[in-house]
Amino acid sequence: MSATEPTVLELGLPAPVRLDGLPSAVRIHEVGARDGLQNEPASLPVEVKAEFIARLAAAGLRTVEATSFVHPKWVPQLADAEQLFPLVQALPGQYPGLRLPVLVPNERGLDRALAHQVRDIAVFASATESFAERNLGRGVDASLEMFAPVVRRALESGIPVRGYLSMCFGDPWEGPVPASQVVEVGHRLLELGCTELSLGDTIGTGTPGQVTDLIGGFAARGIGPEQLAVHFHDTYGQALANTLAALRCGVSTVDSSAGGLGGCPYAKSATGNLATEDLVWMLNGLGIETGVDLPALAATSKWLADRLGRPSPSRAVRALTGSDAQQ
Ligand code: MG
Repeated sequence: MSATEPTVLELGLPAPVRLDGLPSAVRIHEVGARDGLQNEPASLPVEVKAEFIARLAAAGLRTVEATSFVHPKWVPQLADAEQLFPLVQALPGQYPGLRLPVLVPNERGLDRALAHQVRDIAVFASATESFAERNLGRGVDASLEMFAPVVRRALESGIPVRGYLSMCFGDPWEGPVPASQVVEVGHRLLELGCTELSLGDTIGTGTPGQVTDLIGGFAARGIGPEQLAVHFHDTYGQALANTLAALRCGVSTVDSSAGGLGGCPYAKSATGNLATEDLVWMLNGLGIETGVDLPALAATSKWLADRLGRPSPSRAVRALTGSDAQQ
């Protein structure tokens, strides 16, 4: 587009149209700074990461996963967690309600997080044995045993714990994953004390009927949508359709990544976290509150893409920032 041409936002958008049975507001759990950047081949300077997180907060996001206190050998891109956290921990004072969770793989990671006054943590489990072995170096039972003291000690410190559950629909080594298996492992994570369960479609193979079926499986086990979040990947273009299916089931917490950053470094076929901008575009059109300033967020993702040296894969970012003209 030329500099004089008005943007689509300046031209005005159709009035939002609400659909029955959807939540009035969605809490976006922004994962770009952690899940996104951990999958980038290059490491960004810590100051750029801190500015990215500050810009996400300024754009209205109120849950911004900041980093991972994992061993640097496993995720070298996030080896600077100790340097990063002091640069961002004043942000909640500036933006009331802002939470900056971090991923913690074990007790050692928890100790590091506690030393930096972290107030929210997450653990990362797998619904399948194959991915648990490859990603965590131990099977499902052993990984839950590893998390038990992490969750207990965090709760004793007043820190809520999100439980990520990956491979909820398909697994690159095992194929389709039965919903009953996902419900079983998810139930065990909640029994440990996790306060929220994020259901991850790590390789992006899920479709809306399967999403509805899985959330119904949790409901049948007494686990309601208020305890669930969804984490979809756009590998096969299903992320927004799956999100809408989850919203219809009553889920109102959705994970996404600014600019569509990242996928999963341990699963070759996993590309494309759902882009936050694409998600906000849909939610805005449905009249669902997110608190996000979409142009400010898209500008942030464009800014970060320039620092990474490649365009954002988010269609909304490309459309809103005119990035398509540069392809
Ligand atoms: Mg992801």
